[in-house]
Amino acid sequence: MPTAVVLGGGVSGLATAFYLQKYGASKFSKIILLEATDRFGGWIKSKRHPDGAIFECGPRSLRPVGSQGKNTLKLLSELQLEKDILPLCRTDPAAKNRYLFVNKQLHALPNSLQGLVKRQPFMSHAFIWTLLTENWKTKSPLEDESIHSYFSRRLNQEMADVLIDSICRGIYAGDCRKLSIKSCFPDLFNAEKQYGSLTRFVLLKPKATTQVDDALIKKCLEEKWTSYSFKNGMQQLTDALTETCNANKVDLRSNSSVKSITFLDNGKINIKCDNDEIKADAVFSAIFSKDLGKLLQIDTLKNNLNSIPAVSCAVINLEYEGKLLPVEGFGHLSPSSENGPVLGMIYDSCSFPQHDRTDVTPSTRLTVMLGGAWSDSIQNIGQWISQTDLMSMVTEAVNQQLQIACHPIRSQISLLNDCIPQYHVGHSNIISNLNTYISKRQLPLYLIGSSYQGVSVNDCILNAKLAVENFLLN
Ligand SMILES: Cc1cc2nc3c(=O)[nH]c(=O)nc-3n(C[C@H](O)[C@H](O)[C@H](O)COP(=O)(O)OP(=O)(O)OC[C@H]3O[C@@H](n4cnc5c(N)ncnc54)[C@H](O)[C@@H]3O)c2cc1C
Repeated sequence: MPTAVVLGGGVSGLATAFYLQKYGASKFSKIILLEATDRFGGWIKSKRHPDGAIFECGPRSLRPVGSQGKNTLKLLSELQLEKDILPLCRTDPAAKNRYLFVNKQLHALPNSLQGLVKRQPFMSHAFIWTLLTENWKTKSPLEDESIHSYFSRRLNQEMADVLIDSICRGIYAGDCRKLSIKSCFPDLFNAEKQYGSLTRFVLLKPKATTQVDDALIKKCLEEKWTSYSFKNGMQQLTDALTETCNANKVDLRSNSSVKSITFLDNGKINIKCDNDEIKADAVFSAIFSKDLGKLLQIDTLKNNLNSIPAVSCAVINLEYEGKLLPVEGFGHLSPSSENGPVLGMIYDSCSFPQHDRTDVTPSTRLTVMLGGAWSDSIQNIGQWISQTDLMSMVTEAVNQQLQIACHPIRSQISLLNDCIPQYHVGHSNIISNLNTYISKRQLPLYLIGSSYQGVSVNDCILNAKLAVENFLLN
């Protein structure tokens, strides 16, 4: 009976192992997951303090929208995590209110028709005028373009410079002048191609019927969730996946860094790792594309895998004595025109007060995100600035942007190297080159993870499921 090997123990690898043991157990005698470090979870890491405070070092919430969001909810039902979900509902301030820090001031983004009609101080016109004229903008014949170029055409350059630039810094820590509209926002790209304008797309697209075949999806729709976390933080998801895989005899190996992968003439794959050599029948790679490129000897694969870049970020968790936030909301983003190192700040205590410390007086938790496409490598930040200076810079930024002048009572710095892959213009060609090469040669290699078709946790989980389904069909 064959052996399946999963590379990487982040959420993508764990979800792949979960779906393999669930749907493909009869096809394999062994499912092995190899993780280089001493823990499973990858970028998902929640640090819980003895007084109950939780600091998220990576992702901090999931959105229940779209097929990806619904798929994750189904997975949560299967993992019996329903009771541990902390939902944010549409009327919660953290769901309604988002801010931009522009021209050295905090501005609320419109969240109602009134807000759209009123001119914002950082824009020349009210949002509504830009939206009303969108329908008459001409359609582009381009096969791909940058997100900035797309929105400069469809809305206007000011919107692209301020709003879209900030949103891309928030999602990808990336530069919207380089990121691809086709790969980062395929629905918007296809909407223009199919309907000619976003306005026509919104008005004419057939109403999506949500299949409510799961009690958790029903609850989420009824209660109007907009995002959610878990009682023990995001890591509760990867911990539950790890536990279920362990209980179902998946061989989860930590401290097992893969060193090389060779495709043999007999159809098998030779995998060399730290202390072992494995003969596998199928490999599901859930590691960063460049890391996979280093393990292979095939130039076409190596070159394409190496051409997907990633950015590095610093995530700084801060906790202050007392309730200090000047506004209620999810957080704020800063456009690159502000020229500062801060991408944005998340008001953790407002979104998930359940993660505040419980046994003493109230506190305020915040996360500051730095770096991204504007810093070469986070290791450079480590060389360029000491942790003490980094902390001074961050507390100064919090003072300037949120008027919180006191010193944090607790803090944590996480330097995350190559943590968010960047889908630059032309990314879809790289994916197509990889898929063509793999399918033409019928290599038993499946590419999963944030490097290829979506960086969100939901994307990672759905793509893991689709890869397993694809394998089982062949
Ligand atoms: C700061 C930050 C904030 C984010 N916020 C959100 C958010 O709020 N919501 C959201 O949906 N998404 C968010 N994301 C995106 C999302 O968290 C990631 O895209 C996702 O966690 C990636 O998971 P993965 O399993 O594909 O990769 P990873 O988490 O990178 O896992 C890959 C694993 O492979 C291992 N590995 C590497 N090389 C080898 C090797 N040679 N042998 C064996 N193992 C190896 C690594 O050690 C790692 O554990 C955020 C990401 C970051 C960095």
